[in-house]
Amino acid sequence: MNFLPLLEAKRDGRVFQPAEIQEFVAAYTAGQIPDYQAAAFLMAIFFRGLTSDETTALTLAMRDSGDQLRFPPGDRPVVDKHSTGGVGDKVSLPLAPLLACLGFRVPMISGRGLGITGGTLDKLDSIPGFQTTLSTDRIAQVVEETGCVIVGQTERMVPADKKLYALRDTTATVPSIPLIVASILSKKLAEGLQALVLDVKFGEAAFMRDLPRARELASAMVRLGNDCGMATRALLTSMDTPLGRAAGNWLEVRESVQCLEGRGPEDLTRLVVECAAHLLVQTRKAAGLEAACQTAAACLASGRPREKWDALLSAQGADLVAFQKKLRRDSVAPAVVELRAEAAGFVCAGGARLIGEVVRDLGGGRLTRDSRIDHHVGLDQIAKPGMRVERGAVLARVHARSEPEARAALERLRPALQIAGAAPVAAPLVVEVIG
Ligand code: URA
Repeated sequence: MNFLPLLEAKRDGRVFQPAEIQEFVAAYTAGQIPDYQAAAFLMAIFFRGLTSDETTALTLAMRDSGDQLRFPPGDRPVVDKHSTGGVGDKVSLPLAPLLACLGFRVPMISGRGLGITGGTLDKLDSIPGFQTTLSTDRIAQVVEETGCVIVGQTERMVPADKKLYALRDTTATVPSIPLIVASILSKKLAEGLQALVLDVKFGEAAFMRDLPRARELASAMVRLGNDCGMATRALLTSMDTPLGRAAGNWLEVRESVQCLEGRGPEDLTRLVVECAAHLLVQTRKAAGLEAACQTAAACLASGRPREKWDALLSAQGADLVAFQKKLRRDSVAPAVVELRAEAAGFVCAGGARLIGEVVRDLGGGRLTRDSRIDHHVGLDQIAKPGMRVERGAVLARVHARSEPEARAALERLRPALQIAGAAPVAAPLVVEVIG
């Protein structure tokens, strides 16, 4: 394929026809366009942008580049949630079984963490025996039988995104809104969803640092999702404070189980319930958000989603006996130390970025895509902004591979969890809903 004329056209700002975009995606996925030309094309898009019609064409072409999940018609809508990622963001884990108990089918295709944001698959890898790689047929089967599945993208699903994302990652072209929209929504559309709720985070530990840019991304995804026949809504949520009180793969699985048992932190439980409630409204299973929140909260409190969690684990190969045994241990990391308050007062900062960096550097996150991670390190009992503490109270526990690493992390953490004389103004968790 002679790709040069298309490359020149985008460099000069011409708007493409859908067929031209389809041609690019098909040829690049088939290895007929060299990476240097595709990289130049991505950079041209980065600077020139794409119209919404071009973004739609790119998204659909990427969706169509590989296998798609198909579900038989039925009265259980096929839904999912996507988060742009944050520190301590474990919502997907309790949400999937909750949604299954609310009468949805949930083919949750998830990713791995990079940098300070954790990945759902890394968290699940800390569960003995749990399989995150299933074939397309098996994914559909588990969803039909159990109501939910949480897996990685198969080799054959959206291969265009796999290639393009790897190229964007090494050519400084990730932060382009049309490219992000196409990347995220092509994968969600390949799941065969009827409805999607997006958790678009903004703040110091988010992909989008500020609210206007997060709003711009959310609006573009909501518009395109709805245009493609998938009822799409976005919640804009703050990521200045870790979600919940644990950050680190295994520690987040533990906290997710606590949430399913009605003992979870308030912010995590609220966001899980709100995501479920929005999907109830989007699929017209509830008339309004307030009633939907009550339905979702009652379902969570019933204990059924906790049982569903065990069913999900069994369906994906986990050893439930070993899992329960691991849950009963207070810590599985070799060293645990406590950060204690040096004065009485109120916790005044969320410190999500610093906390994320500390967890990553303890070994809980990746610096590159190939880094190996340690599933057992991290923080728990993290004090939340506004909490009143006495001198000597625990502000966080550090779980590390060794005592010196734990102590070094503890010293780095102090600025993230400062104490003041007055409580900070409480920030809302969901700042805006789009769609
Ligand atoms: N997540 C994705 O899947 N794709 C992007 O481009 C950015 C975040």
